[in-house]
Amino acid sequence: MSPIDCQHVLQQIDLYLDGELEASLRVEVHQHLSGCNGCTDHSAFQQRLKELLRAKCGCNDVPAEVLERIQAMLSGGPEPLHPV
Ligand SMILES: [Zn+2]
Repeated sequence: MSPIDCQHVLQQIDLYLDGELEASLRVEVHQHLSGCNGCTDHSAFQQRLKELLRAKCGCNDVPAEVLERIQAMLSGGPEPLHPV
C-alpha cells in the first residue's frame, strides 16, 4: 500500500476532521499531516471554517418567525400560515 499523497489527504480532510474516516485511512492522514506543512495548514483552515459554520448555524440566528413556521410544519397541524 503506497502512502497517500497530498491530493488524497485533502480529499479526505473533511471526513478526517469530522472523525468519520475509517480507522486505517485516519492513521494515514494523521501520519501525512505530521510530516506535511501544506496539508496541516489546510486542515487547520478547514477546522476553523467548520467551527465558524457550526457557530453560525447554532440556530440562534434564525428569525423567530421562521422558527415558528418550521415548528408549525413539524407539528403537522393544518394551521394556515395566514389565518383568515
Ligand atoms: Zn500533504
